[in-house]
Amino acid sequence: MAIHDVDATEQSAQTVRDNWLRVSEQVQAACDQAGRPRSSVQVVGVSKYVGAQLTQQLFEAGCHVLGENRPQQLWAKAQHFNESGIATELPPAEAANTSATSSQPSVHWHMIGHLQRNKARNLMPHINYLHSLDSIRLAQATSDEALRVDRRLPVLAEVNVTRDESKTGLREPQLHALLEQLHELPGLELRGLMAMSTHHASSDEVRREFERVRQLRDRLAVDFPAHDLSQLSMGMSGDFAEAIAEGATLVRIGSSLWQGILPR
Ligand SMILES: *Cc1c(COP(=O)(O)O)cnc(C)c1O
Repeated sequence: MAIHDVDATEQSAQTVRDNWLRVSEQVQAACDQAGRPRSSVQVVGVSKYVGAQLTQQLFEAGCHVLGENRPQQLWAKAQHFNESGIATELPPAEAANTSATSSQPSVHWHMIGHLQRNKARNLMPHINYLHSLDSIRLAQATSDEALRVDRRLPVLAEVNVTRDESKTGLREPQLHALLEQLHELPGLELRGLMAMSTHHASSDEVRREFERVRQLRDRLAVDFPAHDLSQLSMGMSGDFAEAIAEGATLVRIGSSLWQGILPR
């Protein structure tokens, strides 16, 4: 996906603030509708459509958890943020080595797209969370890289519950094999599952797909009591209300946050 070459201006900052407020209200409404506390859902603002300066405007509007689907873009933006004095929030072991005196909020970077094993090393210093763990080989590589820098990386296993064969993500048998393997990989800390719904599916179909993710999680929680499966990353701009109704704890919202900025 090409990044849109849009300038960051005072006007764009205002648009991004308005979008962030609107999306926050919509997430609140979806939580109310589902009878869930707002604090049970974390919004990941997906910044993959824009450059570093617009991404920073979203951060400044109040969205402190940012999602990228390309490793190079993630680390380039993390670097830009660092140069602007915005630190990446690292786990305590690493934060102890940096000056933790600043009162400025820090940024959390979530990798949400497919990751190639050979990118894991460069990405590791910048990411807080990997949503898209989709193979045992990637799990081994990321665990090794995490251990190399003395950390444990929170991860989600990406699942495919759609009827679409072309989609990424693991089916149930492969997922079992991955979860078995994760017992042996101390660099990773499993937190739950990530899923995407079928593109252009109806609201009812999407909701049934998210329901299947939750039910899959519930079955796995019985089979793997030692694993933490509390988190469900599902829902994007078009279907986060359905996802929240079905138990999403992380929603990955992109295009809604860039309305009025990106060409339609
Ligand atoms: C782009 C992307 C999103 C955000 O999608 P929008 O429809 O723009 O909100 C969410 N998840 C993943 C994995 C993505 O690549």
